[in-house]
Amino acid sequence: MNAIQQARNVERLVQGQATSDGAGVKLTRVLTQDLQQRLDPFLMLDAFGTDNPGDYIGGFPDHPHRGFETVTYMLQGRLRHKDSAGNEGVLAPGGVQWMTAGRGVIHSEMPEQQDGAMEGFQLWLNLPARDKMHAPWYRDITSPEVPEWQGNGALVRVIAGHAQGMAGAVQRDGTEPLFLDIHLQPDARFEQALPDSHNAFLYVYRGDMVLVGATAVRRQRMAILANTPGSDGVVLTAGPAGARLILVAGRPLREPIAQYGPFVMNTREELVQAVEDFNAGRLA
Ligand code: MN
Repeated sequence: MNAIQQARNVERLVQGQATSDGAGVKLTRVLTQDLQQRLDPFLMLDAFGTDNPGDYIGGFPDHPHRGFETVTYMLQGRLRHKDSAGNEGVLAPGGVQWMTAGRGVIHSEMPEQQDGAMEGFQLWLNLPARDKMHAPWYRDITSPEVPEWQGNGALVRVIAGHAQGMAGAVQRDGTEPLFLDIHLQPDARFEQALPDSHNAFLYVYRGDMVLVGATAVRRQRMAILANTPGSDGVVLTAGPAGARLILVAGRPLREPIAQYGPFVMNTREELVQAVEDFNAGRLA
C-alpha cells in the first residue's frame, strides 16, 4: 500500500435534508443544489433507507432525464427499472445501475417488493458539455461483478475508478469518477489516493463514526474533503463500532451548470430546448 504523505482534512460537515421525490418516496438529499459548484462534477446524492413500505412503495414512475448520468447503488431491497430505449432490469442488493441519460431517456424506477427494507443511494454525475447530447447508454452491474479488495480490517467495493491497484466496475474519461463502498471493522484504517484537484466527499451510513484527521464524521453525515494543494489522498479510521461509508471523488468540469428538475445542461436556452423536446415526445 502506498502510504499517503499529505492527507486531506474535512472542510465541512453536511447533514442531509429530509425530502420526498418520485411518487412520495421518502429520502435524504445529502448533496443539494447549493453544493453543485463545490462538488463539481457531482450534482446530487440521495440516500434512501427504510423498512416501512409506505415510504417507498410509490417508487419513481416514468420521468425524463437529459444531460448527465445517474448511478444507483442498492444496499437492501430490489428496484425494477424500464426505459424508453427498451432496457429493463432489476437492481438487487450490492448491485449498481449506471445510466447515461445523454440527449434523453424516459424511465421508471419501481420497487420490486411489497414489504421489507429498501436502502441505497442515487448519485448524479454531470457530463461534459461535449457529451450531453450523446446517445443514452446504460449498464446493470450485479453484486458479484463489483470488484472487492480486502485487507487490514477493510473491505472495499470498487464501483468506479481505482483503489488498491484494482479497476472498478466502471471507468469514465472526463470526470474520472471514483465511487467506493468501504466497510471498516472497529478501529480499522484505510487510505485512498486522491488527486488534489479532484472534488471529494464521503458519507457514513453505518456504525458510529469515521475519523478523518481530527474530525469525527458521524453516521448520516457527509464530509466534504478539502482540496489541499499538494495533498495526495485521504486516511480513514473507523471508530470502535466500525463503520460503512461511501467515498466519492471526481475531476471537476468547470463548466456552467443549468438545472431544471431532471434536466442538467450548460445554459438556460438548452433547458428550454429540453422541456420542448420532452413535451414534443422527442425524449422517448
Ligand atoms: Mn430517474
